[in-house]
Amino acid sequence: MGKVLVTGGAGYIGSHTVIQLAHAGLEVAVLDNLSNSSRGVIARLEELTGKTIQFIHADVRDRDALRAVFSENAYEAVIHFAGLKAVSESQNEPLKYFDNNVSGSIVLFEEMMNADISKLIFSSSATVYGDPGCVCYAETTPLKPINVYGQTKLMVEDILRDIKWANPQWQIALLRYFNPVGAHESGRIGESPFGTPNNLMPFISQVAVGKREKLMVYGNDYPTPDGTGLRDYIHVDDLAAGHLAALNALSKDNSLITVNLGTGKPNSVLEMISAFEKASGVTIPYEIIGRRSGDLPEYYADAHLAKKILNWEAKLGIDRMCADTWRWQKNNPNGYCDQ
Ligand code: NAD
Ligand code: UDP
Repeated sequence: MGKVLVTGGAGYIGSHTVIQLAHAGLEVAVLDNLSNSSRGVIARLEELTGKTIQFIHADVRDRDALRAVFSENAYEAVIHFAGLKAVSESQNEPLKYFDNNVSGSIVLFEEMMNADISKLIFSSSATVYGDPGCVCYAETTPLKPINVYGQTKLMVEDILRDIKWANPQWQIALLRYFNPVGAHESGRIGESPFGTPNNLMPFISQVAVGKREKLMVYGNDYPTPDGTGLRDYIHVDDLAAGHLAALNALSKDNSLITVNLGTGKPNSVLEMISAFEKASGVTIPYEIIGRRSGDLPEYYADAHLAKKILNWEAKLGIDRMCADTWRWQKNNPNGYCDQ
């Protein structure tokens, strides 16, 4: 396997995946518009891998930039992380999400086709399932997103299924992530959201480091054992390893792979708070407030198919997820912003 282009590779999941790609001996280039990440990530990736990471500051919607990149380099595969991911923002600004996530993907796929690159891994999401009426999502669970963000992910999945049908030589993996958390064990890279975090784990860690006063827990009256929401949290390094497994699987046959990447084991908000307190030694003040609109009580992955076809499974539990998040947050209280 030669060179891989990672769109969105300066972001949270992309940067962790770049490290593992480089460690596996692949040459990696990152293309990112830095709309939700910092250039400083690239230096840290080079420091951690001991390799040069080519960085292309460009937008996936910029056809000319993509054409230039593909004509100057021979990539064997593309891993497409670039996208916007905030559910509430997607509800308020749908066109921004359709443009960035769907139009951007179409431009990328067209330019891949023009450059004869036909191996692709796409970052999909558990949000494609929507509210299917069960809590354990298998890949066969009906797809019915309940927000614009999830809709954009399903649209790109549909586009890729049609591309595969029309171009059987394409090799495509659609990876449906559950709830990525944690950070690289070194504490040098991690999740660094701009502004107020929407997600639980970055919020808890910002409370722990003293940047925020307390966590708001969105509801404790759900029909779950402790009343708070249950999610399938997966360590970002396990998730990154899933991309390597998918790349290997695609190299073996001309397939269209669709798999969940989760642990199969849900944890509650209160369990995550308590695991974080244990890992950090810091008490997390919190207040129970009303439910957040659009939240489901519980869901988690049926993770069997990934094990079967990728020979991949998540290995790291919530204690490790919290310990790694804390190391990153404590050492970098302002994320990459101090650079
Ligand atoms: P992130 O925001 O940290 O990373 C995304 C990166 O893409 C950022 O560096 C951003 O600057 C870049 N980007 C955005 N739009 C771009 C564009 N038009 N052109 C070039 N670069 C662009 O997010 P993440 O958590 O690393 O997520 C990566 C992918 O995984 C996204 O597609 C996201 O939707 C998907 N995903 C994330 C989660 C999650 O909870 N983090 C869950 C499921 C799926
Ligand atoms: N959550 C919370 N307070 C927060 C953020 C999240 O109580 O500040 C809860 C949320 O209601 C859900 C869980 O934590 O039950 C995970 O939320 P997150 O936004 O991280 O992921 P998602 O909703 O996308 O699964």
